[in-house]
Amino acid sequence: MLKLDLDKVVKAVLNKKAKIVAVQIPEGLKQHALDIVEAIETKANARVFLLIDPCYGACDLADGEAKRLGAELLLHFGHSPFLKKTEVETVYIPLKYELKKGSLAILAEKISKNLEKGTSIGVCTTVQYLGFLEEFKKLLEKKGLKVFVGQGKGTEKGQILGCNYSSVKSIEAAVDSIVFLGDGLFHPLGISFCCNKPVFTANPLGGEVREIKGERDLFLRKRFAAIALAQQAERFGILVSTKKGQSRKGLAIELKKKIEAKGKKAFLLAGNLIKSDYLLGMKLDALVSTACPRIAFDDASSFKHPVVSPSELLIVFGEKKIDDYNVDKFS
Ligand code: SF4
Repeated sequence: MLKLDLDKVVKAVLNKKAKIVAVQIPEGLKQHALDIVEAIETKANARVFLLIDPCYGACDLADGEAKRLGAELLLHFGHSPFLKKTEVETVYIPLKYELKKGSLAILAEKISKNLEKGTSIGVCTTVQYLGFLEEFKKLLEKKGLKVFVGQGKGTEKGQILGCNYSSVKSIEAAVDSIVFLGDGLFHPLGISFCCNKPVFTANPLGGEVREIKGERDLFLRKRFAAIALAQQAERFGILVSTKKGQSRKGLAIELKKKIEAKGKKAFLLAGNLIKSDYLLGMKLDALVSTACPRIAFDDASSFKHPVVSPSELLIVFGEKKIDDYNVDKFS
């Protein structure tokens, strides 16, 4: 369950003396959105615009929209700072899961059973569990493990994003294994391609600990299938995000030149929300995504065309060996 401190939210608005506030909230928290709006309107006496477009990361900051609405303050829930400059003053409100008592200790116990005493491990997590990382580290140390937490570029200590694994990269040489505290497969799979170390996932919600092995092979098989299909393509669509933190326009233009140099067609397709439906009727054989890495790696099945990442395109054209496979990342 996610924990939300409404008094803290109201305090943030009062501190900034904002009279017009824009609120941006991730999809998973929308059921609480109107409670947040009411609390700000009644307790901080401010007018609130709730931004209802879907938001999947801090890369997707709606500061431009907030500015156009005349907001003096943007409250962005659920993510940590991503952009250095914003058009409207922005306060990031982290959201924390409420974990069952003892759940981290159970995970630490299970991990210690998989690893010998004295083993060096790196731990990392996503923003939702960042507040638990220090406690988790101490519990693992009590089990006799040497624990390292890396400092990434543009992220908090120990934090990873689906487009930024620099915190684990920074400790790769010092550790024997990496432990990801969190849920889902997307992030641990990303770690397994960025670092040449065994990766364990420790899920604080489900309580399970396991090594990522079979999933990695399955993921690779799917990616190789997409690469093989893209090798037959003559007409490529290059997906470019207009979201501030996802835009890699320069890279997209480079890829267009590369594809055209192979005698094939390439089209720059820009959008804020990139969905298969928006490409209906376009004669394309394959897509290259320069937007969020999740599009190629997590959402590819929702597209009618094979979707490859920029680094996979190099494999498509024989400019990179398949053995050097890596996931797409921004940092
Ligand atoms: S680009 Fe994708 S992975 Fe990176 S922060 Fe945004 S939503 Fe997350």
